[in-house]
Amino acid sequence: MSQKLKVILRSGKDDAVRRFHPWVFSGAIKKMIGPAAEGCIAEVFSNKDEYLGCGIYQDATIAVRILDFAPARHESFDSSFWKDRIEAALKLRQKANLAGNQDTNVFRLVHGEGDHLPGLIIDHYDGHLVVQVHATGLYPYIDKISEGIQKVYGKNLKSIYDKSRETLPDTFWKDRESRGFLFGEPANTEINGYEGREGLLKVRENGNDFLVDTAGGQKTGFFIDQRENRFLLGRYSEGMKVLNTFSYSGGFSVYALKAGAASVDSVDSSKKALKLSEINSGINGVSERHTAHAGDVMEYLKNTRKDYDIIVLDPPAYAKHHNVRHKAVQGYKRLNLEALKRITGGGILFTFSCSQVVDIKMFQSTVMAAAILAGRRVRILHQLSQPADHPVNIFHPEGQYLKGLVLMVD
Ligand code: SAH
Repeated sequence: MSQKLKVILRSGKDDAVRRFHPWVFSGAIKKMIGPAAEGCIAEVFSNKDEYLGCGIYQDATIAVRILDFAPARHESFDSSFWKDRIEAALKLRQKANLAGNQDTNVFRLVHGEGDHLPGLIIDHYDGHLVVQVHATGLYPYIDKISEGIQKVYGKNLKSIYDKSRETLPDTFWKDRESRGFLFGEPANTEINGYEGREGLLKVRENGNDFLVDTAGGQKTGFFIDQRENRFLLGRYSEGMKVLNTFSYSGGFSVYALKAGAASVDSVDSSKKALKLSEINSGINGVSERHTAHAGDVMEYLKNTRKDYDIIVLDPPAYAKHHNVRHKAVQGYKRLNLEALKRITGGGILFTFSCSQVVDIKMFQSTVMAAAILAGRRVRILHQLSQPADHPVNIFHPEGQYLKGLVLMVD
């Protein structure tokens, strides 16, 4: 990886890079000089040979992820580079009162492009860090990244777990092994009735306890991006009958229950996730008002005879690409329609989409279409998004993916 690659852009294709957008698409490249090895340092130049920035190359549609737009050239991206960036990311979380907070010890430490580290996700669980690399070109740097984290955290670090097995394509792993624990020992928590203990740990979020399965759970173990939205649900929940769909480990359920909800029904197709939601309502001392249902959410909404005061809809991303956006929109419409049918007059719907290709305008008009079909009068109380530990680089609007509406259904 010591040899650098010179990447020359086509005329007019330098605009986005000049505006600090960190991706160079392969179609924008006029010429490459030097060995184009996966993970090598790429120096990006305009058609007029002006130096624009420097990043990491990979043989893919996004050919270069720019890590530095400053005139300084990099001979390598060594551990001190990663340390500086990770340190800056940690400082931001301290400013946002997430790091070093008694009531919350789970936060996203690095959010890719939003922290000027395209392709890299690091989540913090009470000193145990889970790393997910989303770009094959970045994977050769995994040890340097780990060293960078160790330098920033020092003795406050408990472990670093590489969970990139799930975020990089299977073909990438054909002749490689993912690394697992890069530092320290896995947290080993034994919980009656839950299979697997490695990487199982307890965290706090806004004073609520959660058991997180970092190794065996979805994503890095917990949907950290919904922290503030779960908190908001708590404000509306006292005395309410709540349905939490796509409930995963019961994040929204626990907040509603602790805020005094009359009852919460959690629905998820994953039995393992539901088990976690039961454990989580148990460790917060609110399990007697909680019921977990295994199954498909649409089926549940269509077949239940119950009406609810509050419904939460937090489905997985229905569209990962533009070409399936239309289908996704139809999916959101049907889902929201069924939920609107099950809400009592004066009830509240928390509805989300985490599909990056469906923007807030499109999402809102989709929910409006569902409201028309349901014949319900609907008002928007809150427009929700992702929290400060999931920052959006203004030059990379693709980073804005989570959107939500809180609706009063008259
Ligand atoms: N709201 C959750 C995160 C939801 S993630 C939180 O705050 O933690 C999406 C969840 O939807 C996953 O747990 C997945 O198992 C579940 N899921 C996906 N498709 C489903 C379906 N058709 N019916 C029920 N659950 C589904």
